Amino acid sequence: MSALLEVRDLKVHFPVGGGLFGKPAGVVHAVDGVSLTLARNEILAVVGESGCGKSTLARAVLGLTAPTAGDVLLDGESVLGLSDVALRRYRRAVQMVFQDPFESLNPRKTVFATLAQPLRIHGIVPMADLRTEAARLLEAVGLAPGAPYLDRYPHQFSGGQRQRICIARSIAVRPRVIVADEAVSALDISIRAQILALMKTLQGEMGLSYVFITHDLGVVRSLCDRVCVMYLGQIVEEGPTERIFAQPRHPYTAALVEACPLPDPRRARAKAAPPLSGDIPSPLKPPPGCRFHTRCPVARPVCATEPPPERRFAGGQVARCHFAEEAATWPFGRLGAAA
Ligand code: SF4
Ligand code: MG
Repeated sequence: MSALLEVRDLKVHFPVGGGLFGKPAGVVHAVDGVSLTLARNEILAVVGESGCGKSTLARAVLGLTAPTAGDVLLDGESVLGLSDVALRRYRRAVQMVFQDPFESLNPRKTVFATLAQPLRIHGIVPMADLRTEAARLLEAVGLAPGAPYLDRYPHQFSGGQRQRICIARSIAVRPRVIVADEAVSALDISIRAQILALMKTLQGEMGLSYVFITHDLGVVRSLCDRVCVMYLGQIVEEGPTERIFAQPRHPYTAALVEACPLPDPRRARAKAAPPLSGDIPSPLKPPPGCRFHTRCPVARPVCATEPPPERRFAGGQVARCHFAEEAATWPFGRLGAAA
């Protein structure tokens, strides 16, 4: 499968102020050498705790933040240094859905004005058809019949309905990729499932691919084909969802899996879980060696000095841990067998 979207060794470093005589106090390594690929029709999860660099990665992929190094490619073509026209094409192809549907909708704009703007900018339909197309978009996201909603304002909708409107806006330009940054995190559990089901339906109908950024492994398991696990600006493990859940090969992934509620309460945990203790270290000064060593329950001396190489396993699972081969012996991290 050829990659639709590819991120190559991407780095986003920010100097931060506060040093003496106006000098930067340091450099935040928000994204520090991330590579990933998204195939056509794939739903790829990027998971990790808040502060691990997921949102910065998303912004860089969308061209909203300039990377310090590395590249982003769509259909094999680099999007860095594109002309304005080409960049506009790219921005049409790659759309974003944000976490907070209230903040990302202009409260002074009607739903029609919100949806008409991208339709007009990208010339999707003739001006005379804007209302019909906007109503059709609302119906596509489950707000039917669409026409009566068009003249309402965001505050007249529930959180779930607002997120449907944001999704309608993102699909208005018929994109190929949607980057969803915590798109369901602000919603109630029952609404969350409905929005995920909608996104899955749209994927099939429109041939979309998603980069699904989340801290919620429940979402990953129910929706995503493949997972990249991020820790302190780097991807520490990636692979197909079922493999990552069945046998995580990085202790951090294992801790996340362990903390994730079981899909079936009749299943028991195989072993007791160690809590993931301590905070994520500052990206101003990432720990040497393995970045996870300050929190890793199975760290050994080598971990504090040697950065772990990538270890490859069957099915395309890759882990950056010196001891990934020993994962089956770790006293945590696997979903229990059926009782
Ligand atoms: Fe833990 Fe060492 Fe593996 Fe890092 S390399 S995850 S510290 S065991
Ligand atoms: Mg974030």
